[in-house]
Amino acid sequence: MSKIARALIGGNWKCNGTKAQIASMMDVLNAAGPFSANSEVVIAGPSIHLHNMLKNFRPDIATCAEDVGFKKGYGAMTGEISAEMLVDYGINWTLTGHSERRVGFGYPGETSHVVGVKTKNAIDAGMSVMACIGEHLNDRQTGNTMSVCAQQLEALKRALVAKDWKKVVIAYEPVWAIGTGVVATPEQAQETHRQIRDWLANNVSHDVAKETRILYGGSVTASNCKALYAMPDINGFLVGGAALKPEFVDIINCTK
Ligand code: PEP
Repeated sequence: MSKIARALIGGNWKCNGTKAQIASMMDVLNAAGPFSANSEVVIAGPSIHLHNMLKNFRPDIATCAEDVGFKKGYGAMTGEISAEMLVDYGINWTLTGHSERRVGFGYPGETSHVVGVKTKNAIDAGMSVMACIGEHLNDRQTGNTMSVCAQQLEALKRALVAKDWKKVVIAYEPVWAIGTGVVATPEQAQETHRQIRDWLANNVSHDVAKETRILYGGSVTASNCKALYAMPDINGFLVGGAALKPEFVDIINCTK
């Protein structure tokens, strides 16, 4: 199977950035010159900064929410931001199932069922989704990487209908590599990406397996991105820490 032509380079700013820091990172990206034509660039930011990002990013950077509501529409859902509300605002991308949301922040995190429902809500409202999956270190050490990923993919499959997969990008993010500086080797990442693509072929369809972009996330930097991108089943990245630094431009352009 030949490599999918257009990569997606995603940034995830998480809960980072004062107004001044966000403005300065936006200035860096806006002034960076033409991006690689092979990269679609999508940056997820904290809700409070989404309006600014949407208004002030150059047109070839899409603004993405970091999460989306569990219920559809508007109403008595204090603290939630629904997919419909994001779309009404002009935001057409969201992350779902980031490992930090799955783990929680001192309170119970999101189950794969919740991630599936959120993903479906976003797609029904017209959004595209970077759906995050990935195993913890003990899962990898006990040989359970793919069974964990398969369980997370299964919940997406249960929530989605066939046509929805056109709006899905899978972000494979081994939890042990996120924010740790310990990046998966290109071979480790490729092996799991291949297994995820095989899972899609066997459980969803061959077309979905062929067309779905599978991103790698976990301590991607300007110095390791080229070797990772050279792998046939790596179709881009979801980048945390390095997306807050000027080196993110080099990651965007590693697909040239
Ligand atoms: C992430 O948060 O999605 C991520 C991959 O973070 P980092 O690049 O910092 O490991």
